[in-house]
Order: sequence, then C-alpha cells, then structure tokens
Amino acid sequence: MQDCIFCRIVNREIPADVVYEDEHLLAFKDINPVAPVHLLFIPKRHIPTLFDLQDGDERLLGLLQKAAVQVARDLGLEERGFRLVTNCQEDGGQYVFHVHYHLLAGRELNWPPG
Ligand code: 5GP
Repeated sequence: MQDCIFCRIVNREIPADVVYEDEHLLAFKDINPVAPVHLLFIPKRHIPTLFDLQDGDERLLGLLQKAAVQVARDLGLEERGFRLVTNCQEDGGQYVFHVHYHLLAGRELNWPPG
C-alpha cells in the first residue's frame, strides 16, 4: 500500500529504528514513545485492522507474539514485564491502519487505559 506509513517503513522508503525483522514481521521503535520502551510489531503484509485478518493468520499473530516476547527477553524485561496491546479502529484508538501491536515497558503502566 503506497500511502500506508508502515508499509513504507517495511519497504525502507522512510526510516525507522528497527529492532527485529524476519520474513513476515518487522518491529521498530515508536516515533512518539509513551513509555521508556515503546516498540511496534507489525506484519509486513498490509492488514488494515484486526477485522481484516484472514483464515490462516493465526500463525502470523502467534509468531508476532513470540517475537515480541523474544525481544522483551533480550531487553531484560523478564523481571518486571511489559504490556502488548493493539488498537482497533476509532474507538480503540487506532490511528495507523496497518495492524500493529505496541510493546510498552520500563515503567508501571496504568489499568484500565483511558
Ligand atoms: P495507534 O494509535 O494506531 O495504535 O498507534 C500508532 C503508533 O504509530 C503511534 O504510537 C505513533 O506514535 C506511531 N507512529 C506513527 N507514525 C510513525 C512513524 O512514521 N514512525 C514510527 N516509528 N512510529 C510512528
């Protein structure tokens, strides 16, 4: 998708601080962090929202969670933990319409979110 900012990051048309990459996934630092650790995990394939998932994408999302845990472990977050969240459409607070999961850590996070 030419006008999708995350697709442009996948295609290296705009820069990002990449922390993980494999065949299906990319993870990079959020440009506007709201916690000391704020990473975004995305499928490389353009999927606008969770409502657009297809049969077979279970594996993709499982791999994404595993990659997030691996990066969290590598960052030394095993003792204090982290939050992995995704926003879906307007009421969920989704602004970039390419499925992404926020990995937040490095401070105690509030619950419930606002
Ligand atoms: P959403 O509200 O859609 O769940 O979150 C989108 C996230 O993408 C926001 O936290 C925002 O800071 C981040 N973001 C938006 N544009 C860019 C960008 O060009 N580069 C990076 N690294 N993050 C971005």
